[in-house]
Amino acid sequence: MNAEDVDRAASEAVASVRAADDLESLAAVEAALGAKSAPLNAAKRSLGALEPDQRKELGRRLNEARAEVATAVETRRSELAAAARAELLEAERLDLTESPGGRAGHLHLVTQARDELEDVFVGMGFTVAEGPEVETDWYNFEALNLPPAHPARGMWDTLYLDSGEPGTVLLRTHTSPVQIRVMSESEPPIYSVMPGRVYRRDTADASHTPVFHQIEGLVVDRGISFADLAGTLEAFTTTYFGRSIHSRLRPSYFPFTEPSAEFDITCVFCGGDGCRSCGGTGWLELGGCGMVHPNVFAAVGYDPEEWTGFAFGFGIDRMTAQRNGVDDLRELFTNDIRFLEQF
Ligand SMILES: [Zn+2]
Repeated sequence: MNAEDVDRAASEAVASVRAADDLESLAAVEAALGAKSAPLNAAKRSLGALEPDQRKELGRRLNEARAEVATAVETRRSELAAAARAELLEAERLDLTESPGGRAGHLHLVTQARDELEDVFVGMGFTVAEGPEVETDWYNFEALNLPPAHPARGMWDTLYLDSGEPGTVLLRTHTSPVQIRVMSESEPPIYSVMPGRVYRRDTADASHTPVFHQIEGLVVDRGISFADLAGTLEAFTTTYFGRSIHSRLRPSYFPFTEPSAEFDITCVFCGGDGCRSCGGTGWLELGGCGMVHPNVFAAVGYDPEEWTGFAFGFGIDRMTAQRNGVDDLRELFTNDIRFLEQF
């Protein structure tokens, strides 16, 4: 074997290394190049038969050739390893933008309404507060000027939960206990709305469900008057329902406010002309309100001589149902997706 043979054997070896298209075939090429019969190995063995000068010259050339091949193997190995890694990553990649093909869902109609109501009140400077749905009798009734055996307790068909002492733990019948919690935990001034789920022992029909949603507002500050209450409800009404819809107050009775009132809004169906939905009156009943009773302030340790305030509350479900032309409240909660996806 002469120098040209070595050069040719070296370039063939390098070519076979470069031709390996994965790590497995590279390993096979390496094994073949390491075999005794491989040209470069055979050439090395034949060196001993040469004259010293020739041996030195060819030996140097052989060493260069073997180094060249070894470098080619390492280069190819790292190329193939990188390619294999990239292929693995590609295969295991999750396409997070991939859609399962169905339509996207959306918030429930009642949740949408609750969010919109919160937005209106937050825009008027109120904060949003929440409280537990399982309450004690004290928060739900007593602190709200409804001592045990108060006849007005009959206004709420209460679901009591079994606890150590009968009749002390219940599912809240209104969001008003959150007023007590807010006042117990903070100092005035308070401008807060309290949305949430409430429970009554009631048989479901087109206009009643045993579980429903209320939103309640509480303002406590110095010098708050009934005019502030009326002004706040009017501002809310025109903001939420539109400029042509107004509010009015009618005297009423609630144990926790004095004086108390019902508040109505212009019928959203006839604009006040009178229709079937408003029973010809031009008004729709929305909720209750009044000035916070001094006994309620006393229950939370506020001085009724220093602080005055008002509260109001109304049901979210019925109002939302009316606005969207839903004539049976139960439809809102049977969770039939064909019904709900309309909104
Ligand atoms: Zn009407």
